[in-house]
Amino acid sequence: MRKTDRTASTPSSNFIRDIIEEDLRTDRYGGRVHTRFPPEPNGYLHIGHAKSICLNFGLAADYGGLCNLRFDDTNPTKEEIEYVESIKEDVRWLGFDWGDREFYASDYFEQLYEYAVQLIKKGKAYVCDLSPEEIREYRGTLTEPGKESPYRNRSVEENLDLFERMRAGEFEDGSRTLRAKIDMASPNMNMRDPVMYRILHATHHRTGDKWCIYPTYDWAHGQSDSIEGITHSICTLEFEDHRPLYDWFLDQLGIHHPRQIEFARLNLSYTVLSKRKLRILVEEGHVNGWDDPRMPTLSGLRRRGYTPESIRDFCERIGVARADSLVDIALLEHCLREDLNKRAPRVMAVLRPLRMVIDNYPEGQVEWFDAVNNPEDPGMGTRKVPFSRVLYIEQDDFREDPPKKWFRLAPGREVRLKHAYLVTCVQVVKDEQTGEVVELHCTYDPETRGGAAPDGRKVRGTLHWVSAAHALEAEVRLYNRLFTKADPDDAPEGLDFRANLNPNSLEVLTECRVEPSLAGAEVGSHYQFLRLGYFCVDPDSLAGKLVFNRTVPLRDTWAKIERKIKEQRGK
Ligand code: ATP
Ligand code: MG
Repeated sequence: MRKTDRTASTPSSNFIRDIIEEDLRTDRYGGRVHTRFPPEPNGYLHIGHAKSICLNFGLAADYGGLCNLRFDDTNPTKEEIEYVESIKEDVRWLGFDWGDREFYASDYFEQLYEYAVQLIKKGKAYVCDLSPEEIREYRGTLTEPGKESPYRNRSVEENLDLFERMRAGEFEDGSRTLRAKIDMASPNMNMRDPVMYRILHATHHRTGDKWCIYPTYDWAHGQSDSIEGITHSICTLEFEDHRPLYDWFLDQLGIHHPRQIEFARLNLSYTVLSKRKLRILVEEGHVNGWDDPRMPTLSGLRRRGYTPESIRDFCERIGVARADSLVDIALLEHCLREDLNKRAPRVMAVLRPLRMVIDNYPEGQVEWFDAVNNPEDPGMGTRKVPFSRVLYIEQDDFREDPPKKWFRLAPGREVRLKHAYLVTCVQVVKDEQTGEVVELHCTYDPETRGGAAPDGRKVRGTLHWVSAAHALEAEVRLYNRLFTKADPDDAPEGLDFRANLNPNSLEVLTECRVEPSLAGAEVGSHYQFLRLGYFCVDPDSLAGKLVFNRTVPLRDTWAKIERKIKEQRGK
């Protein structure tokens, strides 16, 4: 069914939607909208792919169409089943469904071969014996035309014979290619007799040893789209110059002709979005795998605590454009906070514990206070939090020598313990050798149950805490940006993005304490640790001890950045 009325609730318009609507109006594809997401299974998907996934599946959904998942698996040497599985898991996790339309370019190898034979018969393709280096030399440059291959004018019969023997495995790797016969003087380098097939005696993860010639991406891509009846083939800008070639192939073959539309790829500050570079990070051990929470892969973001909703919201907000730009990672984090603010229950956790004894609180007594799970959503209810004589607070929340405007704890100062009582620090115990503060003694005011002073005295600081006897031990992993530069590729002469790796991107705290309500917290569940940020339960918790990842700290810098951007635009 076609959707023609655009209400205010539909996603914002963009140039791709304009093109699709134009095609619907002119009935170019019989009212159909059929897109595809075509990953090459040579790595894990990253946030850039999410933009393409949301776009392709989103457009199909909005126009009542279909979106295929197609693995562009034309390169046997770099592809693995592990990647195929991870890609499917990630697309599903993002919230999209390709139904029974899981396709592989390798399923079309036979058809592509037939198409190639057709071009040979038309005199539009030939077998060339130049080596890869010679082909490069003959290609010319942007300013000089190329030279025609001496094999260009082979007869159709000879070409058919040689091509068949290429397939049969008679020739060595790299000894021959099949090339399109177009124009060695074309100003577009892609049109200078591009290679369609190369000889490669390699085992393919799906076709095994059936083939020893493999189609190039340029030859496979447009025809795969055509075979699947794709109407709008959406790709990133670097393929703009390939479009004339794809059009040429389709026109020569006279088959269904999808419309290719290019958009700008996502670039994100402090991040590399190239599978090649991400693979280097994994293989050289700069991170602990493709799903390391510092990675911009979807599996890394998921483990870090990103929700599919926040990523979809981000992709919607960045929109699509025809010009390259750099998106501030603060926007991604902002979308995440907005989502987690709604869904994450608040709990208390102490990352760097400092022991606090309430001298006048009865030994052995325990009070269970009601604590609101999410002030944003009363429907999320309350839980009980135990209070007792010995607590832990955050080391950072105490200063022996406080600066001006210090509202947290200091000798003689009174603060509020969230959900509980007002306490006053009466004594500081230090390690004799190191001088380090190891314990605080406080008194509590029994009249302030729940945290309010009946005499209305002002207490500005409110601290989180846990009861020492009840708290659970936990490990907390704090993450910082993986790169120290907004543009990681901006490296000194002779070096690359690796030179900008942040040596402090991971900090592991092993002595943390969390409130007992977190016992049995499920892997992947999200929490706001009061005053500290959003955290989620890491799969490593399955080994026994609770392990949390800090997803993001609380402070949101996006509003400030957005204001600056608007000011700059206004100028
Ligand atoms: P990479 O450079 O990371 O290897 P790729 O383009 O080679 O990316 P593919 O597996 O070929 O990776 O990509 C599948 C789809 O995702 C393509 O349609 C591609 O255009 C799109 N895509 C890849 N990276 C981005 C990005 N940064 N922003 C938007 N779309 C992207
Ligand atoms: Mg690619």
